[in-house]
Amino acid sequence: MAIGVSTTATDAVNGEVNGQQKTQTLKHLPSEFYQYFLGVSAKERKPSPIRGLYPLEAKPGVISLLAGKPNDAMFPFESFSFTTAEPSDPSQLIPVSITGSDLASGLQYGATAGLPRLNEWFVGLQERSHGRKNNEGWRLTIGNGSQDVLWKAINTIVNDGDAVLIESPVYAGVLPIFKSLHCEEVEVATDANGVCSSDLRVILENWPAGKPKPKVFYTVPYGCNPTGMTATIERRREVLQLAREHNFLILEDDPYFYLYFGKAERPPSYFKLELEMPEVGRVIRFDSFSKILSAGMRMGFASGPKPILDAMDLHTAAVNLQASSLVQAITLALLEKWGYDGFFAHTQAVASFYREKRDAFEKALQTHLGDLAEWSTPEAGMFFWFKLLMSPDPSEEGDSKELIETKAYEGGVLALPGTVFLPNGRKTAYVRAAFSLSTEEQVNEAMRRLRAVMLKEREG
Ligand code: PMP
Repeated sequence: MAIGVSTTATDAVNGEVNGQQKTQTLKHLPSEFYQYFLGVSAKERKPSPIRGLYPLEAKPGVISLLAGKPNDAMFPFESFSFTTAEPSDPSQLIPVSITGSDLASGLQYGATAGLPRLNEWFVGLQERSHGRKNNEGWRLTIGNGSQDVLWKAINTIVNDGDAVLIESPVYAGVLPIFKSLHCEEVEVATDANGVCSSDLRVILENWPAGKPKPKVFYTVPYGCNPTGMTATIERRREVLQLAREHNFLILEDDPYFYLYFGKAERPPSYFKLELEMPEVGRVIRFDSFSKILSAGMRMGFASGPKPILDAMDLHTAAVNLQASSLVQAITLALLEKWGYDGFFAHTQAVASFYREKRDAFEKALQTHLGDLAEWSTPEAGMFFWFKLLMSPDPSEEGDSKELIETKAYEGGVLALPGTVFLPNGRKTAYVRAAFSLSTEEQVNEAMRRLRAVMLKEREG
């Protein structure tokens, strides 16, 4: 069943199909469409009486007595300076200084959705990375890492007790958000090709009559945490189609997009792929700079339908006002110094770095646990998800919890048992290992130790 929606906003995009230029008219889902997706508390939330008026300060000639902004004359900072490497030639160091009005806005309260120039830079990035040329119908908001905007999006849409669709295994950091809302977590299986979209179809086509359908589907599309898997374009297309047929929004949580190092070309993001759909506006995308600039900066952003993002901003205005202006000013100074080309040169270097880490880890896994574990090779991200063959009888799945949490740790290896990534916490023989930090030597030693623990376990 296709949900009937009338669309209002349209704009044209040019695409190249089979070498022929074609102009396609995009239809954006209208604002009214999102009323259904706003949760009870999001609908009740009112704009902050002060923050909501910030834009009025921009009118020329206005003397603003509005906000309780401290006077920056009393801030004890004259400049911020740092050094970065030239992305295309890391041996060359470039000094960057933040002074004058850029320093002033970095030290002051600022717009809820982030410093306007940084927000625009990110919009330009979405155009380059995801073909989202025109921000009509969608917009972007900056948060304290993607976790912050994820929490806000879920709390904007999902009501207490709602059923939600979650790929499984799933990023463990999202589970407390759904659990705190007492959600019914409907697990959608994943395999080496990403989310099993045909399973999702079965779930939705057999949804009990009269029971409200889920409003969201949560997925990590590239280098999934924990499985390392990247969803194929076919699976993504089917999910988008199902979103249309069964009326849900896709939460595309994508911190590993720029850590794609697969042999084949990177499949398009949901945010990009939805441009193929008859109407656009079912994807909320979450980007994180934690893996590419710094995790400690807490820099992430959400992009998606304007009514949802507006409601998220109301939440921000009540919770933490905005992301740190100073971190935003530093990010902006760096990105403007690099330019988009420099940014992409940097992310390519990051992806190559992790490819080498992945290769070293897989070699060690093969050498030491080749006969005691099974896995699929990740093509993005930072994780190996492998199944320990805990018993010589392959029909016995086993449970890695005790072995990993206690015996492996006593043996000198710390990793995570797969059960923590399963919404219902069931037993599994899988293990998640991060390959981002360890040296080749450390990885080999870790696998050697794990082998010893496994052999002892098998002996009983
Ligand atoms: N989503 C996923 C899938 C993650 O793996 C992480 C980080 N581990 C996050 C979100 C949170 O990222 P950030 O540091 O941007 O808050």
